[in-house]
Amino acid sequence: MSKEHRFETNAIRTQLNRTEHLEHSVPMYLTSSFVFEDAEDMRASFAEEKERNIYSRYSNPNTNEFVEKVCQMEGAEAGFAFASGMAAVFSTLASLLDSGDHIVSAQSIFGSTHTLFNTFFPKWNISHSYFKIDALDEIAGMITPNTKLIYAETPTNPGVDVLDLEALGRIAKQHNLILVIDNCFASPYLQQPIKFGADLVIHSGTKLMDGQGRVLAGITVGSAVLIEKVYRFSRITGPALSPFNAWVLSKSLETLAIRVDRHCENALKLAEFLEGHPQVNWVKYPFLKSHPGYKIAKRQMKAGGCVVAFEIKGGLEAGRQFFDSIQLLSLSANLGDSRSIVTHPASTTHSKLSVDERHAAGITDGMVRVSVGLEHVTDIIADIEQALEK
Ligand SMILES: *Cc1c(COP(=O)(O)O)cnc(C)c1O
Repeated sequence: MSKEHRFETNAIRTQLNRTEHLEHSVPMYLTSSFVFEDAEDMRASFAEEKERNIYSRYSNPNTNEFVEKVCQMEGAEAGFAFASGMAAVFSTLASLLDSGDHIVSAQSIFGSTHTLFNTFFPKWNISHSYFKIDALDEIAGMITPNTKLIYAETPTNPGVDVLDLEALGRIAKQHNLILVIDNCFASPYLQQPIKFGADLVIHSGTKLMDGQGRVLAGITVGSAVLIEKVYRFSRITGPALSPFNAWVLSKSLETLAIRVDRHCENALKLAEFLEGHPQVNWVKYPFLKSHPGYKIAKRQMKAGGCVVAFEIKGGLEAGRQFFDSIQLLSLSANLGDSRSIVTHPASTTHSKLSVDERHAAGITDGMVRVSVGLEHVTDIIADIEQALEK
């Protein structure tokens, strides 16, 4: 295996382990611990004089393989895998921040990350300021001597706004701040934030990485120095990914490129259909020319991703009618699944936010988020069309 190979080849051919049976597909290492040869091996292993697996809270062959694949995809030096995307967000930030530190974050971020910043971090005296995704020039004025990192995601959940990664990378470097990017909506196939100056990249593996709605997972990759801190914290606090889920994900990544290509193709067709629909106020998809971040998206992403956001005319009541009329698509909170999903962000993923916070994050009552799946695009569009007509 060579890092010289292309994305798809590395995703398929990277295999860190093979037993004496010479199985073709990587086996599962469902073990909580690993044995030592003798007393000296036991001592040296715990003294970290050798690189080896000791206990699956620290590392495991399946987890290591998943981490290695994502590091290759993102162009990262090292990584650590977590039981969920939120475990990755929390553990990464908790390992880097001290009491008294300050975060500058994009306003439009995942609902649970919002709640983490608003409700839980203040308990440890960690504060934040929010900037609007299209007002990066305001960041400099928010930075204090206690500011340690900049946090953002792009495209955003659920509004699919696009943030200029190159500009953000420049600002972080200028002010000597750690730049952390949640790259979950793009997946490493469409966008690699490290190229633009990100120090750490976080994913919820639950979404496009698994792609079939089976497992919860998270991962953080980036600079070896920062990942070492993340590892030290996580090895003790125990948010590790299970070996079984790591095995599922390592196999899922083999098909990431081909799946995401089709997700994006279907999503663009749906977005184009919705753009002309009389029952729709607006449609947002990064690769639609009408998207305010279209040029930035074209520069930093290979395609527009699997999520389309739109607003139904008639607000909450029309929205309720729409969701009750959907037949084929799933009403669910996940995304990046092979099955198309429609979600109402105001009453689900972002319901913990106040009305003002929701509006500041661009979430309106009539807003619908569609995670466009891999069914035939004609069937996807037909279901949404019949629901809009009702
Ligand atoms: C889903 C999601 C998360 C959280 O991931 P979980 O695996 O659900 O914990 C974080 N960020 C974004 C952008 C997400 O969509």
